[in-house]
Amino acid sequence: MKVAVIGAGWAGLAACAVLRDADANVTVFEAGRTPGGRARRVVHPDFGGQLDNGQHILLGAYDQTLALMRRLGRNPDMLLMRRSLRLASLDGQFRLTAPALPAPLHAAAALLGARGLSWRSRIAALRFMHGLKKMAWHPPRHWTVAQLLTHFQQPDALVASIWEPLCLAALNTPPAEASATLYARILQDSLTGHRHNSDLLLPCVDLSALWPDAVALRATMRYGATVRQLMPLANGIDVNRERFDAAVLAVPPAVAARLLEDALLQAQCPGLLNALQAFDYLPIATLNLRLASPWPLPEPMMLLREDKARGHMGQWIFDRSRLTGRAPGAELALVASAARDLADADRETVIGNLTTQIAEQAARHPARLAPMPAVEATELFIEKRATFAAVPGLVRPLNTTPWPTLTLAGDWTDTGYPGVLEGAVRSGQRAAQILLNR
Ligand SMILES: Cc1cc2nc3c(=O)[nH]c(=O)nc-3n(C[C@H](O)[C@H](O)[C@H](O)COP(=O)(O)OP(=O)(O)OC[C@H]3O[C@@H](n4cnc5c(N)ncnc54)[C@H](O)[C@@H]3O)c2cc1C
Repeated sequence: MKVAVIGAGWAGLAACAVLRDADANVTVFEAGRTPGGRARRVVHPDFGGQLDNGQHILLGAYDQTLALMRRLGRNPDMLLMRRSLRLASLDGQFRLTAPALPAPLHAAAALLGARGLSWRSRIAALRFMHGLKKMAWHPPRHWTVAQLLTHFQQPDALVASIWEPLCLAALNTPPAEASATLYARILQDSLTGHRHNSDLLLPCVDLSALWPDAVALRATMRYGATVRQLMPLANGIDVNRERFDAAVLAVPPAVAARLLEDALLQAQCPGLLNALQAFDYLPIATLNLRLASPWPLPEPMMLLREDKARGHMGQWIFDRSRLTGRAPGAELALVASAARDLADADRETVIGNLTTQIAEQAARHPARLAPMPAVEATELFIEKRATFAAVPGLVRPLNTTPWPTLTLAGDWTDTGYPGVLEGAVRSGQRAAQILLNR
């Protein structure tokens, strides 16, 4: 079977891997120059050659992604730093560590033993977990995360320390807008099942090297090949006027809508077209810093406190030197999710504010961290359409289309997850499997 995969993000390449395993002849059309899409390597001379377009984390619960890596001979135990559930703030005021107990006891013990939370907050956190479990992890579909937290009377300090940063990290959507259903799904996946599901997995190599490069070696890759014409037919599909037996369309929904608009209207499927056009998006900013001398942080990933009025918008800081092993000096990456306010702001001001946020919060750490060394190089990436806004009631398309020769893939399809890597991988695998089963 001759198949076209359109888009070399994690969804398209996961589809490609399944199709190649079934001996399909696969051609991948990718508008960019690098495999990985929104999770890819960016070559950068100031940062030891390579950076990512944005700092990512994976979870122990990402079982399909981890299994795919293993099948491709990419050992997750070597390429990802695995940390059991542990959250600590850079200012040293908050710390939560899960002991080696079975799930969900490990999470309950972590919440009960959290430093920097009042007893009232700790008990409220347990009540929240218990309440979600009683709802079978399915809060009402129209609820936002803020409504869910209010329903379970979560104190402000607890929301600011744990629930809001988790919501931003997992859904890239502020609690007041975010879907309670998707939030509960992430909590359920990480806090139930095996204790290791809640592990944090931090990439030690660039995101394309994790596994996308390995899949790209197994297919015909066409980079810089933007697809502008797509015509599904009864027994095949034309891609840029070239005939294939079938295709997986693994591009963002707005691009899929443009490519399929005429065909969907002709096929009298305005519902799918409307769904593809209905997504809204939110930005994520990653500030990379190279420092003049080593500056090891207490943890490879730490929480930051936000102060929007001062432009201190970062939620997480990563000690990249510890992850990549690159020396000398130090490399940090700060992440600001749902960063609407940063997307159009003056870049130098943003870099200055975020750098101050790191230096000030580290200076408050009770272990008296050394002052932050001079900054030698900076790179601020703002992905304006980092993920879809994970709001309640969003209609997410299935992988199937009116045509048996065409399937859809992407983190935005109906995966049950917010816009995350595991959702993209699962969606790609399913889209490929549907074509193989037809
Ligand atoms: C900064 C940032 C941080 C993130 N952090 C995390 C995280 O910590 N954990 C997590 O799980 N997820 C995270 N995500 C989300 C994650 O990156 C995405 O869920 C995932 O990469 C989506 O993959 P995809 O294949 O669905 O889409 P994409 O990666 O967008 O793939 C679509 C591909 O199609 C190509 N394309 C578009 N139009 C055309 C065309 N006409 N012709 C040919 N090719 C085309 C694009 O160039 C792209 O390569 C983050 C995202 C960003 C941007």
